Amino acid sequence: MVIRSNVFDVDGAFIKNLATFYNDPTWQMYNTSTGAITRTLTQADCAAAANPNVGAAYKNYCVECLPSYVSTLSNTFYIPITPVKASTSFTFATGPGGPGSAAGPSSRGIAFDGVVFDAPAPVSVILAAYTIAPFDDYGAHINLAAGYHYHAATGLTKKVTQTDGHAAMIGYAMDGYGIYERLSVAGTEYTDLDANRGHYDATRGYHYHVDKAGNNNFINGLAGAYAN
Ligand SMILES: [Zn+2]
Ligand SMILES: [Zn+2]
Repeated sequence: MVIRSNVFDVDGAFIKNLATFYNDPTWQMYNTSTGAITRTLTQADCAAAANPNVGAAYKNYCVECLPSYVSTLSNTFYIPITPVKASTSFTFATGPGGPGSAAGPSSRGIAFDGVVFDAPAPVSVILAAYTIAPFDDYGAHINLAAGYHYHAATGLTKKVTQTDGHAAMIGYAMDGYGIYERLSVAGTEYTDLDANRGHYDATRGYHYHVDKAGNNNFINGLAGAYAN
């Protein structure tokens, strides 16, 4: 199985091309007579298809869970107001940073709109079941446990611009340190990031810069203590 580290528009042409794209003729996610894309249509479909044990009946389904399915769901997150640097960083259980010896939480942080920056989507599991669970342009989708959640920073959520050309802030990590966009205003990458994807400057203190949207990842670990 090939996992790409770029972002692709999941449109009709993409769905039509899946067998070629993944070099596997089992992919056939549309009705060859009508052209209609095969997708989940109900909350029960969403529950069965948008979880790590994708039901076999959902092979070749595009998973679409609607906001109405999670309209009464509420999740509470606790983030330190004053970050406290830990002696050893916590790496996440999944994703590029982990699993390390000091295991951190699953969620990476919270955007300014209150939506969670979640652990990487389990793309290999999703693709192994011949399903696709596309993100919207904001890098998010829905499942019944997490509700609406981000897997990628695409630059469309609320941001706090900085006056010095530094990347804009987009939220807080679970340890209370700030999370910023990947690139500076000039479009340059930060080359001095630590293994967590964090670094220090005199204006902002310690803070993180997110990963590429196509990497299905935000940050690799937490430098500070987090609330359980
Ligand atoms: Zn997800
Ligand atoms: Zn920075």
